[in-house]
Amino acid sequence: MPSMTTSKVSRWDGHGREHIVHVSRSGLQRQLSCGTCGWRRSAQFLPWLKAQEHLAEAHQATVDPTA
Ligand SMILES: [Zn+2]
Repeated sequence: MPSMTTSKVSRWDGHGREHIVHVSRSGLQRQLSCGTCGWRRSAQFLPWLKAQEHLAEAHQATVDPTA
């Protein structure tokens, strides 16, 4: 499980490229911002899960470099 202090989610795609979604706090919400395509979204719950979903669906990036 990611820690509550995690501020980004990074995944590698099948070509070894790194894709990063930055997570910033905004009151009760978390703002997600993808460094690859500019995708943005706010999430109150499980922002890291939504970041992982975006990385997998938009960039086929599912390899966790920290795993
Ligand atoms: Zn993206």
